[in-house]
Order: sequence, then C-alpha cells, then structure tokens
Amino acid sequence: MREEGPADWSKLLAPNDRLEKELFGNSNTGINFDKYEDIPVEATGEDCPTNVESFAELELGEIIMNNVAMSKYDKPTPVQKHAMPIIKKKRDLMACAQTGSGKTASFLVPILSQMFEEGQPEFLREQTNRNNRKQYPIALVLAPTRELASQIWEEARKFAYRSHVRPCVVYGGADIGAQMRDLQKGCHLLVATPGRLVDMLERGKVGLDHIRFVVLDEADRMLDMGFEPQIRRIVEKDTMPPTGKRRTLMFSATFPKEIQILARDFLHNYIFLAVGRVGSTSENITQKVVWVEENDKRSFLLDLLNASGPESLTLVFVETKKGADALDNFLYNEGYPSACIHGDRSQKEREEALRNFRSGKTPVLVATAVAARGLDIPNVKHVINFDLPSDIEEYVHRIGRTGRVGNLGLATSFFNEKNKNIVRDMVDLLIEAKQEVPSWIESIAYEARSMGGSGRRPQNKSRFGGSFGSRDYRQMGAGGGGTRGGGNQMRSNPMPQAFGGAPMGYGFHQGGGYGGSYGGAYHAPAAHPAHDWWGS
Ligand code: AMP
Repeated sequence: MREEGPADWSKLLAPNDRLEKELFGNSNTGINFDKYEDIPVEATGEDCPTNVESFAELELGEIIMNNVAMSKYDKPTPVQKHAMPIIKKKRDLMACAQTGSGKTASFLVPILSQMFEEGQPEFLREQTNRNNRKQYPIALVLAPTRELASQIWEEARKFAYRSHVRPCVVYGGADIGAQMRDLQKGCHLLVATPGRLVDMLERGKVGLDHIRFVVLDEADRMLDMGFEPQIRRIVEKDTMPPTGKRRTLMFSATFPKEIQILARDFLHNYIFLAVGRVGSTSENITQKVVWVEENDKRSFLLDLLNASGPESLTLVFVETKKGADALDNFLYNEGYPSACIHGDRSQKEREEALRNFRSGKTPVLVATAVAARGLDIPNVKHVINFDLPSDIEEYVHRIGRTGRVGNLGLATSFFNEKNKNIVRDMVDLLIEAKQEVPSWIESIAYEARSMGGSGRRPQNKSRFGGSFGSRDYRQMGAGGGGTRGGGNQMRSNPMPQAFGGAPMGYGFHQGGGYGGSYGGAYHAPAAHPAHDWWGS
C-alpha cells in the first residue's frame, strides 16, 4: 500500500449532523456579553502583544472560525481580547480572571488554532502504525474538579469540531478503565484533574514528552485543594519539556504568594493579565469620603484642585442649578478654568462646556447630576461630590465617570450632617469595593443602624462585585522575582498621574479636622512603592 502524506490539520473535515447538534444544540449561554465591555483589563510584561477587538483579527484558521460562529460567539470577551493574541504570539501567561469571563475559550481557541496550523507532529506520523496504549497529548489542561474539567473538555470539543484533534478528559471518582479506553482512541488535548493524571502517568497510559501547551486552570483552587505536589510531579518531575520550551498558561482568580511562586517556577517571561469581574468596575476607583462642613467646602475644593494639577480633568457634582452657577463663578473668580452644565443651560451651552472640558481648556466641570446624565463625558481623573446625592445609586453612577476601562480613578465626597441619609449604604458600598472606611463614618453608620429605619438594600445584593483579584506583583516593587516591563499596560501607575508629584501637606489633615483618613492615598507612588492598590 502506498504511504499517505501527513494529513492537513488546518482544513475543515466533513460536518457531522448528530455531533453538531450535540455540541452546539444549546449554544446560547444567556449571558449578556455587552456588560463585559466595561471590564477593566490590565496587561503587563515585556513586549506585551496588543489586544484585538474581534476573532477575525487573529487569523485563527477556518476550523476555529467555523466553530466560533457555531458557538455563536459574536465578539471576544475582554479576557479573550487580551489573552488570545498573547497565546497566539507564543508567550507565557499568568491571567487573573474569574469563571464566567470567557477564560476557557481564551486559552482553547489560540491553542487549538496553533495545533491546527502546525499540523500533525512528527512523532505522531511515526507512531501511526504502532499501538495506542500510551498517548502523547500535545496540550494539557489541569483543572481542580471533575465539573470544571468536563466543562473545559466540552468547550474543547466544540472548537475541535471538524478537525483532526481529539480532546479527552480524565478525572477522579469515575471508572478509570473507561477513561483509559477512551484515551486509546487518540488524545491530542487532554483535560485532567491532577490526581487522576498522576495515576495515568504511573500506569504508563499518558506520556508528557510532546507537550507544547500546558494550562493550569483555577490554579489557586488547585493549591487550596492540596494539589501542589501532584502539579509539581506532572510539570517538573515527569517527561514534560521544561519551562521555556513549552508554552505555559496559568489562570487563577487570585494571585497569592503560593501562586506567585508557582508562576515564577513554571512560567517564562510571562505576561500578567488582570481582568476585572463581570458587572463591576469599581475597585479601580479609589473612593474617599471626607467630613467637610458646608462653609469649608469651597476652600477644600480648591485644595483638591491644587493637588490634582492643572492638566487633569475634574468633574464636580453639586445638587442644584443655583449651586452650580455659584460654584462656577467662584472658581472663575479664583482663577480656575471651569465650565458648568445644568438644566437651565441650553443644549448649545452644555455642548460647548463639554467640548472645552474634553479638550482640557476648562479642566474643571461643575455639573448637576441631571444635566450630566446621558452626556458623553469622557473619562475623568477625579470626581468630586461637592454635594453628595441622597441616593446611593446616583452616587455609583457619578463615580463611574472616572476609573473607566484601563484607567485608575479617584472619587472624593464631601460628607457632613446633611448626608446622614446615605451613610449606611455608603459604608456598605465602601466595604464591598474594598475601600478605606474612615472610622468616623463607621460610627455614624452604626448610630444610624441602631436607630433602625428603612431603605436599606438587602445584604446579599452586591452592588460592587469587586474588581481585579490581583495585580502583577512584578510591577509593584514587592515580592521580588520576575521582570519589570512596560508593554501593553493599560493602567500603568498605581496612582493617577495627578497625584504623582503632589507635595505633602497641601491642605489635607490626616485624620484631623476633616475627619478623613487620607493616609497614604494621596502620597506620591514613590513613597509607597509596594502599596497594593488592588487589595490583594
Ligand atoms: P468561562 O468563563 O470560560 O466559564 O465562560 C463562561 C461562559 O461564556 C461559557 O458558557 C462560554 O461558553 C461563554 N462564552 C465564552 N466566550 C464567549 C463569547 N465570546 N461570546 C459568547 N459566549 C461566550
């Protein structure tokens, strides 16, 4: 018989109706991915590949493009936009992303795409006529639980549909005989829980000699479950090609010390990707509440503006139209270039004010909440609640004008006797968003709580689901190890530029008359190089 040439792995194989229904029958996840658009993403590391906006930009090949369409993935989620090009460019990756962010496809799509592109490896061609008792996968995904492993495998089957690549899954607590028989049918991509994989290695059913990609999914959970010895056994003490010779990708919701050590040991010059949580953009906003009496508000505002420097955009919210005009005039008389928008100003005047604000001609914009609503106000460095609203939803809305995707923001609120109606929600929200809660406001909230009253939101209703689980410790001057690099860092400084050079003692009274606790937060980064702004 004539020897056939190697199969072209990049070409779509014939469709299979039954399998197609099984894999893509209920592809609608019901998740509204538009809400993902706002999720902050930060990528750091040397020569960080730039993110993409669509699947098409990545040249993933016809098999992947077909299966992406079959899965009804219209556009990539934020983690996919960043992780896919990084993996495609053959870089190692440490990604802090949650389940639900689309992280599974973010690694499967580029891995499978490369497997299709590179074609049948030499060792497999040589092996064709030998027995299949030992399988040598090209890609390995380690996951902590049977459920997660099965989900990853299901997703892998979707993206490997109509290809030569056969994904397999092995996990504990299930019949090992059936899993071994399934492996023997061929295994190019293996999803495994660590314990069961060690078992398979010891039985000589799986060889890691030809691994090109290894993924540790939910790495923090695997460590919590005590899998570190098995993981090290698999990655370091078997026949897997060493760090640098293979691509290693780690996904973890958090980035504690143990994970940092694993990243240091397993990854080679990696890119660190921090992905915010779905439905939350708040932890990238530093929220400050300061006690300021009505009569002191204007001078306090000037202190803040002086500290921010002339080039940064500051949005100041006031309660009334009259108050807006008055404050705008005051600022003008004090020599601060400001503009003002409120309901009594014409559309034309508002647009002009916005234009001047955007261009930086008048970097201070005084606004009433109503006037600001629905307007395309750009990302601002600092939102100041000169007057706090009485409604927490409105507060959330206002501070959301800063700290938008890729930027750190600052929101300062002036609080006094008049604002007690919002105090409990404020405290809950500050805690939820992992912000500093001044002790004086806690006391007021405690008082308010003990007096009873209504209007509280249910305890379990999370307004702020938190944001980044972690940041790249290599960037923080703490923790040691790793490289420092610029790259595609969307949020480069741990503090807004405006405060970078702010002098000490420019009007803040730490824990003093204003009752505020500004300790640290307004200091130059150099003074606190190791401060972790993300609370990790
Ligand atoms: P994961 O975070 O990987 O568990 O994914 C969460 C869910 O989102 C899964 O059901 C995926 O099938 C789905 N999903 C992932 N990426 C996309 C996308 N780009 N468009 C639509 N759905 C997606």
